[in-house]
Amino acid sequence: MTQKKNIKNIPLDQLAVEFSEMGLEGYRARQVRQWLYQKDAGDFSDMTNISKVFREKLDEVYEIPRFKKLIEQTSNDGTKKFLFEMGDGNKIESVWIPAENRRTLCVSTQVGCGMACDFCLTGELGLKRNLSVYEIVEQIAAVKRALPEDESITNLVFMGMGEPLANPKSLYPALNILLDPECFNFSRHHVTVSTSGLAPEIEKFGDKTPVKLAISLNATTDEVRDVVMPINKKYNIERLLEACKNMKLHKRNAITFEYVMLHGVNDTLDDAKRLVRILSKLKAKVNLLPFNEYPESPYKRPDDEWVHKFQKILLNAGYIAVVRKSRGRDILGACGQLATHEKALVGEAKSFKTERFKIAV
Ligand code: SAH
Ligand code: SF4
Repeated sequence: MTQKKNIKNIPLDQLAVEFSEMGLEGYRARQVRQWLYQKDAGDFSDMTNISKVFREKLDEVYEIPRFKKLIEQTSNDGTKKFLFEMGDGNKIESVWIPAENRRTLCVSTQVGCGMACDFCLTGELGLKRNLSVYEIVEQIAAVKRALPEDESITNLVFMGMGEPLANPKSLYPALNILLDPECFNFSRHHVTVSTSGLAPEIEKFGDKTPVKLAISLNATTDEVRDVVMPINKKYNIERLLEACKNMKLHKRNAITFEYVMLHGVNDTLDDAKRLVRILSKLKAKVNLLPFNEYPESPYKRPDDEWVHKFQKILLNAGYIAVVRKSRGRDILGACGQLATHEKALVGEAKSFKTERFKIAV
C-alpha cells in the first residue's frame, strides 16, 4: 500500500487539481480546508457536506496528522509552554502568553536555529531542520485544542525556535492559512514575524505578507553585533537598515526593533543614543528585552533601574519604546529560553564558550 499524503502540507490549488483528478469538484478543496482548520476535523468522516463515497476515497489517499503533546507546563503567571512531538520524532516548543487584553502564542519555525546568536539558547542547538507548513500551522491548532474552552489565541508572534526568514517556503503559505477568513482568520495587525536580519529576505517581506515585522537589532555597533549576532558579518547594520527602507510597509505597520539588553555589553547610555540615531530615518518602534538568564548563560540581565534609564533616552527622543515583561521565566518559556528540553544535546558545547566580554556590574 502506498503511504498516505499529509493533506495539510498540500497547497489549496494543488489540492483542487488532485480532487478533480479523483472526480470531485475542485471547489470541494476549500470545503475540506474549512473542515481542517476552522472546525479542526481529525477525520474525513466528520466532513458531512461531502458524500460518504468520497469521504472514503479521501481517507484512502490522505491522512490528517496531529502533533503529540508531550509536555504542558503552566507558569505561576499563567503562561503555558508546550512541547510537541512531530511525525519524525523531532520536538518543538510553543508558548502561550495570556495578558489582560490579548492571548499571544509564540510560534516556532525551525527545529533549532542556525544563526548561532551568542546569547540565545536555541542557537546552541544549531539548525536541525526547517518546519513544514503543516508543522507551523499545527502549533496553533494543537494549542487551541489543549486550552480550556473559554480560552483562545488572539495574537501570534513568530519568536519561538528558529529564524522564520530562513524558512520562507513554509512561512508564507503558513501565514496565508493563518490569516485566511475561511481558516484561522487572524488579523494581520495581530501577527508579528521576528527576524535576526536576513536583509534580502526582509526586502521581499512586504510583498509576500501584510503582517508585521520585528527585527532583532541587539547592538548599535558592528563590532558588538558581529559577536552577539554572527549574521551581522554577512549583513551589517547599514545593510540591515537599507533593507528596512526598501521593504514595502503596509498601512499602519511600523517596524519593531527588538533590543535584548545584555548588561555591560550593549546597554550603555551611549548605545541608547546611537540607537536613536540609527532609527531616525525609519518608522520604528522599540521593544526592550532585558536578557533572560538561563543556567550557565554567558550574559547578565541589567537591573530595572538601568533598563528605565536606557528607555528614557528613547522616549525623550520621541520613540515608542516598550520594556517587554518576560513571561513564564520560571518554566524557561521566555524569549531565548526555549529548547531547554533539548539541553542534553547542548551541555558539552556550552562549556567551550569563552566569555568574550567583560561583564561590567
Ligand atoms: N530568530 C528570530 C525569532 C526568534 S528569537 C529572531 O532572532 O528575531 C525571538 C527574540 O528573542 C529575538 O529578538 C531574540 O533576540 C530574543 N532573545 C533570544 N534570546 C534571548 C534571551 N536570552 N533573553 C531575551 N531575549 C532573547
Ligand atoms: Fe536563532 Fe533568533 Fe536565537 Fe538568533 S536569537 S539564534 S536568530 S532564534
